Amino acid sequence: MKLLLLAGSGEARMVAEGLTGMAGIDVVASYAGATQRPATLPCATRSGGFGGVEGLREYIRRERIDALLDATHPYAWRMSANAAAAARAENLPHLQLLRPEWRPEPGDDWTMIATEQQAAEHIRPPARVFLATGRQNLENFANLDGCWLICRRIDPPKAAFPFANGEYLRGRPPFSLADEVALFSRLGLDWLVAKNAGGVEGRSKLDAARQLGLRVLMIERPRQPDCQRVDCVRAALEWVRAGA
Ligand code: NAP
Repeated sequence: MKLLLLAGSGEARMVAEGLTGMAGIDVVASYAGATQRPATLPCATRSGGFGGVEGLREYIRRERIDALLDATHPYAWRMSANAAAAARAENLPHLQLLRPEWRPEPGDDWTMIATEQQAAEHIRPPARVFLATGRQNLENFANLDGCWLICRRIDPPKAAFPFANGEYLRGRPPFSLADEVALFSRLGLDWLVAKNAGGVEGRSKLDAARQLGLRVLMIERPRQPDCQRVDCVRAALEWVRAGA
């Protein structure tokens, strides 16, 4: 069976590792190509967009893909929607691996927002704001005039920060709780803006925020496609083992 694994999350790496050496399974992992040095996977890897639903359908036919496992990040909603639509159209077994959301714990001070632009309804200048939301949708925070924005990113920036009122900060996850507490204290933050990514690795920033009494704006998850879904690597591996 030839499996197309849509990667870009820690779980995708774990699935690739879990499938290593499994008889009868030929895995090709796919990266968007957004990160300069993505994690090396123990399987064949391709990189770059497919060209929408039609491009993905063409790829599936050309490469004789038998099953599609979507292990992209919970906020990669375009890729997940395309995967579901292409699999449906090609009558291909398809599964989405989507980790559970984080839930606030006692002591957490979270405000849920639907879109990044809504951050300005809650954050009043002059606030120091840590954007743990990635660099890609930074333009959505253009309305936070008068605040100081700090955006953490993995790769070195190729261009200056898009607004005068902010800066990039380099960092490659995972980050320990102690590291996050030390960083947030040093930066003198008022707000943390985060996506509800779920998982173990990214939780440390929220634990650090709780420890420091920092307010959190949590961007709600995007709508997910209507498809078969599991929430852990073990279940995804079972699905593959069962012949997808
Ligand atoms: P997105 O908005 O869902 O995808 C935008 C386009 O990028 C897709 O339409 C597709 O292009 C291409 N693409 C995305 N994932 C791909 C993959 N695994 N293989 C091949 N093409 C892919 O996704 P995004 O939010 O930009 O995220 C890009 C990648 O970074 C994803 O793989 C995701 O898992 C990872 N990531 C995202 C976040 C986040 O917060 N969004 C965080 C960590 C990691 P075509 O339409 O041309 O096929």
